[in-house]
Amino acid sequence: MTRQTVLIWFRNDLRLHDHEGIHHALGSGAAIAGVYCYDSRQFATTRWGFPKTGALRAKFLQEAVEDLRQQWQALGGQFWMTAGLPEIIIPQLAVQLHATTVYFQREVTQEEVQVEQHLTQALQRQGIPVHRFWGTTLYHPDDLPFAVQDLPDVFTPFRKQIEHQNMAVRPLFPPPSALPPVPPLALTLPTPSPEWFLPEEADPRGVMTFQGGERAGLARLDHYFWQGDHLKAYKATRNGMLGADYSSKFSPWLALGCLSPRWIYQAVKRYERERISNDSTYWLIFELLWRDFFRFVAQKYGDRLFYRSGLRGMQGTGGWDPAQFERWQTGHTGYPLIDANMRELALTGFMSNRGRQNVASFLCKNLGLDWRSGAAWFESSLIDYDVCSNWGNWNYIAGTGNDPRNARYFNILKQAKQYDPQGAYVRHWLPELAPLPTANVHQPWSLTPQEQQRLNVRLGQDYPRPCIELKYPTHRG
Ligand code: FAD
Repeated sequence: MTRQTVLIWFRNDLRLHDHEGIHHALGSGAAIAGVYCYDSRQFATTRWGFPKTGALRAKFLQEAVEDLRQQWQALGGQFWMTAGLPEIIIPQLAVQLHATTVYFQREVTQEEVQVEQHLTQALQRQGIPVHRFWGTTLYHPDDLPFAVQDLPDVFTPFRKQIEHQNMAVRPLFPPPSALPPVPPLALTLPTPSPEWFLPEEADPRGVMTFQGGERAGLARLDHYFWQGDHLKAYKATRNGMLGADYSSKFSPWLALGCLSPRWIYQAVKRYERERISNDSTYWLIFELLWRDFFRFVAQKYGDRLFYRSGLRGMQGTGGWDPAQFERWQTGHTGYPLIDANMRELALTGFMSNRGRQNVASFLCKNLGLDWRSGAAWFESSLIDYDVCSNWGNWNYIAGTGNDPRNARYFNILKQAKQYDPQGAYVRHWLPELAPLPTANVHQPWSLTPQEQQRLNVRLGQDYPRPCIELKYPTHRG
């Protein structure tokens, strides 16, 4: 009997550990090959005029794919990297390979689902079935105590239902120890355009060096949990903005599937047994639940995630002003907390959760801009870009999503004083403000002209005047 051949099309599941597709393919006794296809549409220019995938995110992705390729080949398997439209290239490859099945991880959002559907149809025309599996969340959607269409619209009831029912996290799939190879095949596949991968390096002032790939993700977990023992203090430090260890920094690896949330969960449980079980260990899992929540929200609401009116069909959510947008995007609003965070994002591809909440609120609530422009810039820039977490959080902050407090916004100056009381964060990213006394560093324009002269700070030249007056009508964040 001829041996079956499985082609695994990798997407946001760039790992060997806890991988349902690899596990099932191995169990079937088939020969297994892997492929990753850089989707050319993901490198196009957005309607807002910047690339959909910026240079630092592209670099992190490339490193992650390369890491998987190396590991795959070390286990004896064949792995291809290609570029173009996956729904065309993958079926062509499957035919040449005489693949009997194509495996891939399911996604839930518009662009990704469309690609899946077209790819499935193309394969069906060739008589090749697909096997789709789930692999992105901590909890499997089939185990939820409600259908995804009945998902609570607010996070707390969602979390409580999961916690009160003591829902189990499914066990891990073991990583493969060898991969049965397909017969050698000489193929020339399209390669990515060099323009997609510009030689850009992250600014060394960033919180840490992020290296894409499963091995680097697992090493980060080892550092944060075991070597540095940081997990025990996570709840107290997680609102920080400076340094590697105020939070886990798992998000870039989670976003590309280099780390499985179930793997992190099992590591937390082990930490609780071997080190300490406290509110911090609980809180990390709590945050992973937020991640699940936004994925299920995206599944429930479909395209509405990307509408200007958002999940809730709100009217009048922001306009468009290219000059104001550019000030925000480049970190020149005249509000140091916003500018420091936006420069960190542009120069490193990362920003803390505290920073993200503030800059997003500033764009929507203070500048009054269309929240989708901000979400698109995050999509371009963040190395941890995750379609559901990003667009879900933006909906939330814009007031078009799952925040039960309707008109919430962040009071930027209050936040600055609370989360950067000494001004260390803004001085780190805005060295032009370094000479300012702490009392003025978040409001440089509160200095008199004489004080500016004495400090040798030229406001308006070295640092811009506020681009807008802050107004806070109702509730405060
Ligand atoms: P930790 O504090 O260590 O949290 C552990 C993990 O929990 C994170 O890695 C992440 O997977 C998850 N998590 C924590 N907070 C959230 C949250 N609010 N929503 C969803 N998951 C969460 N996160 C992304 O992974 N990708 C995005 O594209 C993204 N865009 C965002 C956009 C906005 C406007 C906001 C306000 C938040 C966004 N987040 C996004 C959520 C959050 O800011 C990041 O997950 C977090 O800052 C990553 O740092 P960390 O891994 O150190 O987080």
